[in-house]
Amino acid sequence: EEIEFVQALQMPGTRDEKEAKSTKDAKKMSIAETKKSLPIYPFRKDLLKAIEDHQILIIEGETGSGKTTQIPQFLHEAGYTNDGKKVGCTQPRRVAAMSVAARVAEEMGWKLGNQVGYSIRFEDCTSERTILKYMTDGMLLREFLSEPDLASYSVLIVDEAHERTLHTDVLFGLVKDIARFRPDLKLLISSATLDAQKFSEFFDDAPIFRIPGRRYPVDIYYTKAPEADYLDAAVVSVLQIHVTQPVGDILVFLTGQEEIETANEMLLERTRKLGSKIKELIVLPIYSTLPSEMQAKIFEPTPPNARKVILATNIAETSLTIDGIVYVIDPGFCKQKSYNARTGMESLVVTPVSKASANQRAGRAGRVSAGKCFRLYTAWAYKNELEDNAVPEIQRTNLGNVVLLLKSLGINDLLNFDFMDPPPHETLVLALEQLYALGALNHMGELTKLGRRMAEFPVDPMMSKMILASEKYKCAKEIITIGAMLSVNNAIFYRPKDKIVHADTARHNFFVPGGDHLTLLNVYNQWEETEFSTQWCYENYIQHRSMKRARDVRDQLEGLLERVEIEVTSNPSDTVAIRKAITAGYFYHTVHLTKGGQYKTVKSHQTVMVHPNSCLFDEHPRWLVYHELVFTTKEFMRQVIEIENLWLLEVAPHYYKAKDLEDGSDKKMPKKIGKAKEELSRTY
Ligand code: ADP
Ligand code: MG
Repeated sequence: EEIEFVQALQMPGTRDEKEAKSTKDAKKMSIAETKKSLPIYPFRKDLLKAIEDHQILIIEGETGSGKTTQIPQFLHEAGYTNDGKKVGCTQPRRVAAMSVAARVAEEMGWKLGNQVGYSIRFEDCTSERTILKYMTDGMLLREFLSEPDLASYSVLIVDEAHERTLHTDVLFGLVKDIARFRPDLKLLISSATLDAQKFSEFFDDAPIFRIPGRRYPVDIYYTKAPEADYLDAAVVSVLQIHVTQPVGDILVFLTGQEEIETANEMLLERTRKLGSKIKELIVLPIYSTLPSEMQAKIFEPTPPNARKVILATNIAETSLTIDGIVYVIDPGFCKQKSYNARTGMESLVVTPVSKASANQRAGRAGRVSAGKCFRLYTAWAYKNELEDNAVPEIQRTNLGNVVLLLKSLGINDLLNFDFMDPPPHETLVLALEQLYALGALNHMGELTKLGRRMAEFPVDPMMSKMILASEKYKCAKEIITIGAMLSVNNAIFYRPKDKIVHADTARHNFFVPGGDHLTLLNVYNQWEETEFSTQWCYENYIQHRSMKRARDVRDQLEGLLERVEIEVTSNPSDTVAIRKAITAGYFYHTVHLTKGGQYKTVKSHQTVMVHPNSCLFDEHPRWLVYHELVFTTKEFMRQVIEIENLWLLEVAPHYYKAKDLEDGSDKKMPKKIGKAKEELSRTY
């Protein structure tokens, strides 16, 4: 099997391939030489002058030009961190914050966590001495709660502004506001070569500082015909490049951890079969929850006689630059949140990328020499099926979190908040309604005591409500474990392709009646009993790193419980109490079995299915509460528990009335036979 590509055009570069010869030795450069070779370096003086002259500056420069790693160092050297003041730099992605901070520590010869550090949700790697602080945009938002004027910062850099994440968009409004009453604060908005004009207009016509790009030309190839299975096509293309193309590493864009792990296994299996017929291929994954020791590996130089292939999410599109990439494989998809403001349903959907993204991806191939980008879609699809730009997240997500935070900051008039692109009115209204139903706001739209406590937790309002409800049901210990296990993104069970049967048997052994949340609790408790044994995880097909992360998250949640003065009571055998506490947070996610044998959401009557991995897949209880929806071939509920409808009147009396709870299913569903299940598990 081979894929036929057709070359369509060349993305022009500003550099000539002849120059590339001299940078072939890039690997031997010292840190100081590397820094000097970055496109931003010659602009150091002019940039600092512009920052001195203007309070707000928009900085635009091609990915990899040195914005994120160098600007904070320039500012430090120019004295902006004197008297212990900090330079803060936000990143939309946690991996970027960690990795960039590590790089700067290395360049400065500092220890990570001292003068330079990072802060991401559930992990604070900073100290009293930290003066260069990288953090996710969400963490800076939360800092407004403890320090509303951000007085400890002399400079704030809102980096990767073009990503337009929800948190970055909200930050725009907040930092613009504090810049007005803090004339000493410098504000830098930094982005890849996109949207600079728009940022400038929003920030009262702030000047734009452009760092000219330096890129070699990139040849763009498309497939001749559409590819039905892009994952397989990506794997085949990697091997095709490896066998036919000259030196240079390969970067493949995939949509998430599961896909990356599958592709990783496929590549290992196929290269094993080829044996010594081919040169060594080093396969390295990178995604948001990858532990830091493995993140560092992608930056290690490729040994001679080998080729590196990096399987990345769109983290590698603009947030991280990996040197040495000459070939890019772009299947043309990414995973995106999508939100239906009418039904209030949010789900993760694999979506075609925008043209802007596709071009950023291609650009990654031209940093060290002329490169090639293989798009696993047709030229026609590029032209006719891709949108020009992605829709900003604020327009396709639930705003509950942000509304709760803004209310906690005393910002009440949300309809007139200074948004660069305002969210749809109905989405805002729905967020207010949801917070009211959760008890976080009163009927005047003001924050309640419960709401104030909810805002203490860096999790979404449904989860924080669940955690707070555990006080009433005396099961806080169990609930924070469940909360922690839910936050590690379905990465608990290990399911290698060649051992699926064993892995599934091991997983089934953890099942307990009541639902997946209780199953997760069971896994954690058993692991705790082994004193957190690695061997035990290995034997039971449990991912040890995810468990360690769950333990960290759990510790933090426990600390936060203390802060809101909730005792960590335990009630392990009362699963009704535990499920009621979950329902108190997630009652919006209630579905019931209809006469036709389908699950429908209670208020909006949308059809959804139990995920084939759920322990309740064969059970068909009448009422379920789900944790999240994932759209693949169908709308699947991931992590469900069985509830009784009457609990809803107890936990959400503002929201459910007795008539919502009429039981439409008068007959039990027929037991599904094995085959149907098998078919389903292949489709997700
Ligand atoms: P920009 O923000 O303009 O996209 P960066 O400052 O992120 O640019 O990158 C500048 C250079 O630093 C790139 O050559 C990149 O490869 C290198 N770099 C960044 N992070 C690391 C890291 N963790 N290890 C090694 N090199 C890194
Ligand atoms: Mg950057």
